[in-house]
Amino acid sequence: MTLDRQREGHAATWEELRKNPCDMRPHVLILGAGASRAALPNGDANGKRLPLMNDLARVVGLGPILKRVGFRWNGRGNFEKLYSRIHCQDPASPALRELEEEVSSFFGSMRLPPGPTLYDHLLLSLRPRDLVATFNWDPLLLDAYSRLRDRGIPIPGIALLHGNVRVGYCPDHRTKGEIGASCPECGRQFTPSRLLYPIAEKDYADPFIEREWDLLHVAMEHAFTLTIFGYSAPATDQKAIALMKGAWSGKGDRKFEQTEVIERKDEYTTRDLWRPFTYSGHFDYRTDFYQSCIGMFPRRSCEAQYERTAMGRFTPEPRQIPKEANWPELLEWFDPIFAEERPGD
Ligand SMILES: [Zn+2]
Repeated sequence: MTLDRQREGHAATWEELRKNPCDMRPHVLILGAGASRAALPNGDANGKRLPLMNDLARVVGLGPILKRVGFRWNGRGNFEKLYSRIHCQDPASPALRELEEEVSSFFGSMRLPPGPTLYDHLLLSLRPRDLVATFNWDPLLLDAYSRLRDRGIPIPGIALLHGNVRVGYCPDHRTKGEIGASCPECGRQFTPSRLLYPIAEKDYADPFIEREWDLLHVAMEHAFTLTIFGYSAPATDQKAIALMKGAWSGKGDRKFEQTEVIERKDEYTTRDLWRPFTYSGHFDYRTDFYQSCIGMFPRRSCEAQYERTAMGRFTPEPRQIPKEANWPELLEWFDPIFAEERPGD
């Protein structure tokens, strides 16, 4: 009887997750507006509420601009559709610029609460080989990224699929950074990333957006696990879905790769929506980030999935992130997990 046969039926141990396999592929996490709302359920540091696309115009207070251009608006509806309709009526309308400025200023003034948030937990639970790609304009993931990076913690890369209020880029070099900072290659100040596009023209041809999608494409092609958190794949984003599907299909056979969705919508609708992203029935539905494989197997999420799908074994007891912990407690909890990592992990 082989060692693998003997192990069948037994749960993997954390020690095994640390050792096998030694060259694990990346975990890609895609975030939508639902993730920001779940991360900051009571709003930002000043209680400012995180809008979803369907209530953005109301939450941001865009009514006066819409009225000024004679736009009949009933206070509801997808903001990207509203923007596209105005663009369709008059592509030169000054209201388009005003809307972008209002949206930018609303999100730009958002601040993370000082204590650890779900976004800090999420970044702490992935590794530099992984990628977090966000559709969100709000800067809260970026701000969590900056404060962890400043502590010297090895965290995943970030791709900003729809631009972001905190980030600019150099048109001539593949560099990006905070608004106000300069390109390390040529010394010129970064150009702010564009936020709003009419849906019909959302072809991601903008140089910054194109580069961010390239990052996602490469990571998804190689990824072992894909988690989609709070992104409802709206009909307005068909182009995005097609790009993601192409990348997740990868180059080889997808037998063991796992797709996981963290979503408040019911399971049946969610499974149906993401069926084209599911291989060999490998699909997990969660309603809570802390019950996801990232939340239960911090920094070993792909290894845990590998044991389940490729080795057919049970995963070890989860290491549940202490979500109420303050910064010293949280970092102390993560310390031994960081210490287990080999250089280059
Ligand atoms: Zn430059």
